[in-house]
Amino acid sequence: MLGLLKLNWLLCSFFIVVGLTSAQPKNPFGNPLVPDMIADASIQVIDSVFYCYATTDGYDKGLETSGPPVVWKSRDFVNWSFSGCHFPSAVGQKYWAPSTAVAANGKYYIYPTINEFMYAAVADSPDGPFKLLHEPDTFYLPYTPATFLKPKGSEPPQGIDAEIFIDDDKQAYVFWQRRHAARLNADMVTVDTSYTTIPTPHQEYSEGPIFFKRNGVYYYLYTLGGDEKYQYAYIMSRISPLGPFEFPENDIIATTNYERGIFGPGHGCVFNLPGTDEYYFAYLEFGRGSTNRQTYVNKLEFNDDGTIRPVDLTFDGVGALYQITDEKKITVVNSRASSICPDLIIKYMKDSLFRRTESFVSQFAFDGANGSRWVASPDDNDCWIIADLSKILTIKRSEVYFVRPTAGHAYTLEHSADGKTWTICGGHPDVKVQSPHVDNLDIKARYFRVKIQEGVKGIWEWNIY
Ligand code: CA
Repeated sequence: MLGLLKLNWLLCSFFIVVGLTSAQPKNPFGNPLVPDMIADASIQVIDSVFYCYATTDGYDKGLETSGPPVVWKSRDFVNWSFSGCHFPSAVGQKYWAPSTAVAANGKYYIYPTINEFMYAAVADSPDGPFKLLHEPDTFYLPYTPATFLKPKGSEPPQGIDAEIFIDDDKQAYVFWQRRHAARLNADMVTVDTSYTTIPTPHQEYSEGPIFFKRNGVYYYLYTLGGDEKYQYAYIMSRISPLGPFEFPENDIIATTNYERGIFGPGHGCVFNLPGTDEYYFAYLEFGRGSTNRQTYVNKLEFNDDGTIRPVDLTFDGVGALYQITDEKKITVVNSRASSICPDLIIKYMKDSLFRRTESFVSQFAFDGANGSRWVASPDDNDCWIIADLSKILTIKRSEVYFVRPTAGHAYTLEHSADGKTWTICGGHPDVKVQSPHVDNLDIKARYFRVKIQEGVKGIWEWNIY
């Protein structure tokens, strides 16, 4: 009897230990802004809607390529979505750092770096479709006559990473890589050719400029370094966008935080909630190495003298900035999948103190964090994931945020009362480029299953309402 009890105890211990170790892999990526890999984000509010234009990362070829141009939108800053590409002729090109959609002349202008040269594009709506300002609306290598800055003799056009700023007097300025700046003419496409260089106390390589004005003070933020050594510094002017500048003593406002494991806060943006003194700083982080970056947002705060406080970098996000709904998603505490991709130990690029391992368990599709994901094994050709709601519930909606959504997905959604007999209730057989994929339902069920037919076999988040 004692032996049997002991055996039972041992078996229980075994299952508890196995349960704990398999149920609690860590998510070292926290909760980035959107459930995808994006970098060089420019965020703005248009008619109470947040727009996020960015570089689409996660295509596994380093700087050789990028994902297509899309614009993520949100009404509350928590739930984000995009549908299709907003710049058709730029699909298939290397598309970086599009800047915000600048409203002028009754139109919207963006200034992406395409195949490593800046171009100006225009649309009637911030949703696009954008096209090049100069016909023909097409691209070829190394660059076309439509580049934003023009070649000088045999020298190719300068620079990447345009940042546009329009002052209160309507004069527009453009800032770009290596501390360059110029006045932009009223047509929003030709540039005063007397370029200037912003004088900064730090002289190493710089890109990703950020420019904004608050309480009559102009702020110029510029990056230093790159990869896990990326950081942001700033200078300010009370006179004009092109100076003369003041050089605050504590001018590094974002740098690697070893304690919190946040590496290389780089190219992002500053944005303001209209009608308030609330400012936010968005930045990419080098947690997955190379061009597998995700973008995070923290508050940007100022001292009374107008200087910027070092940003309190966190992976937690800032939550809802506008409250639009109190709809609560169902907490999914049990899930399983056809397979789980083995852990990935991420190699560092510049900082040997960098340590990070990514796990891909099914529960990461239900943890409310945009930095964690379920990914199937590479050889799983019939992959699925099941959400177990613990009891039969009436379900109104399913929203699936697949991994690498800009390459498109086809899938089926099924439901079941017992986990054995399944009925199709959603999905689509054709590949659609969007995120999330939404199925409106009115179904009583305990289990839901997604089978991925086309597209990357993984899910960042699956929300069930
Ligand atoms: Ca997740």
